Amino acid sequence: MDQQIGNISKPKYKRIIIIGGGFAGLKLTRKLSNTKYQVVLIDKNNFHQFQPLFYQVATASLEPSAISFPFRRVFQNKKNVHFRIARLQGVDTDLKLIKTDIGELNYDYLMICTGANTNYFGLENIEENALPMKSTGEALTIRNTILENYEKALNTDDKQEQEALLNIVIVGGGPTGVELAGAIAEMKKYVLPKDYPELDFNLMKIYLFEASPRVLSTMSEFSSRKSHHYLENLMVTVRTNTAVKDFDGSTVFLENETIPSKTLLWAAGISSKRIPGLPENIFARNNRIKVDGYNRTDGLDGVFALGDVAYMEEEAYPKGHPQVAQVALQQASNFVKNLSRFEKNNTPDKFKYKDLGSLATVGRNLAVADFPFIKLGGLVAWMLWLFIHLMSILGVKNRLNIFINWAWNYLTYDQTLRLLLKPKVKDKNKEINTKAV
Ligand SMILES: Cc1cc2nc3c(=O)[nH]c(=O)nc-3n(C[C@H](O)[C@H](O)[C@H](O)COP(=O)(O)OP(=O)(O)OC[C@H]3O[C@@H](n4cnc5c(N)ncnc54)[C@H](O)[C@@H]3O)c2cc1C
Repeated sequence: MDQQIGNISKPKYKRIIIIGGGFAGLKLTRKLSNTKYQVVLIDKNNFHQFQPLFYQVATASLEPSAISFPFRRVFQNKKNVHFRIARLQGVDTDLKLIKTDIGELNYDYLMICTGANTNYFGLENIEENALPMKSTGEALTIRNTILENYEKALNTDDKQEQEALLNIVIVGGGPTGVELAGAIAEMKKYVLPKDYPELDFNLMKIYLFEASPRVLSTMSEFSSRKSHHYLENLMVTVRTNTAVKDFDGSTVFLENETIPSKTLLWAAGISSKRIPGLPENIFARNNRIKVDGYNRTDGLDGVFALGDVAYMEEEAYPKGHPQVAQVALQQASNFVKNLSRFEKNNTPDKFKYKDLGSLATVGRNLAVADFPFIKLGGLVAWMLWLFIHLMSILGVKNRLNIFINWAWNYLTYDQTLRLLLKPKVKDKNKEINTKAV
């Protein structure tokens, strides 16, 4: 019997359920719209999030709406696409149905594109007290926390308390940590002393801690060295081979040292969530789902995993692909290309990741870029970073909005969005925890 959620009608042909409208899920849904398949997109949010620019929301350069796109707008007039806000809670692979908080639904094809979450490596205090940045809501929480702490610092004469309120510690020297550190350093240089002339910004330190020997360790030595140097020029204290052990909300604990700070930004690792109902042996390291060269799960009829959540070994990537947007997008395209071959039992095309290069920005006129044929730093890499990110944004209006914001920030040395916006729960007059989004 066909189980119904949200009154979705029986498909005329076959039903493809896509869980997660991130880079992989959105690309799949767009490519499958206007086809004979019924496409059901399920996401816990009603919008797609452009994660590479979260750090700009966190540092008040962009509004959340500039990098979040409502699914319903994207799929207006796409009659074969149905969207529901729901959380995947489990799968019954024998009955071929998904279980969600709004009901159950049968599938012919199940596309798991649920991405990854923050990995705290079992450090409970850090999970409790640190701020992650894996959603637009979390980026907004960082913005609010930083602004709130500066407001609080005005109200105390205790230098130690002021220091803890002003200091910002970032953990994880990957692109996210580097970009956050650079953007906060620029706030300190150009904006905060103008907004808070009563505060002594000599007390404010920005720390970036990385447990491995270098920042941007997935990029070239050239990019690591350059970005490290750029950050130090921006007065960020960068420490490699340094692991943060604990954080109680006011003090950051290293091996033999403590740092007073009420703001710990955690960008140290990611891990996926296990989906109940899938066999234990399907999960690889960090709960990624093992798939073959066509994104198919082993032995589960019609179940595929794509993007960050998928673990696929390729000759050039024996430990799985990097968890980046291009892998998710290219896997989605490959699946759609193969779909009719799966149906006709013809030989599908094996996925082959095409590395188009990686970029990371540190600040104004400062970025690094690794392309297969050349490595770049400084202004040229920065211009490329701006162009590529602008072109990757969905919708002309958003692109224009971001371009205007960036141009304004560049010309005026000022971010204009330093609003402490905190929605209230109507009846209880309580703040909504934006961390939960
Ligand atoms: C801060 C940050 C910066 C980054 N910068 C870059 C960059 O510059 N370049 C780059 O290439 N990559 C970057 N990445 C990585 C890139 O964003 C990911 O590789 C990419 O998003 C993976 O796409 P995906 O479709 O697999 O998952 P995601 O894009 O994460 O999408 C997963 C979707 O699934 C939904 N979901 C999850 N669980 C459930 C559930 N149980 N029920 C319903 N829905 C669910 C989520 O709401 C989300 O919409 C960055 C990531 C972060 C966090």
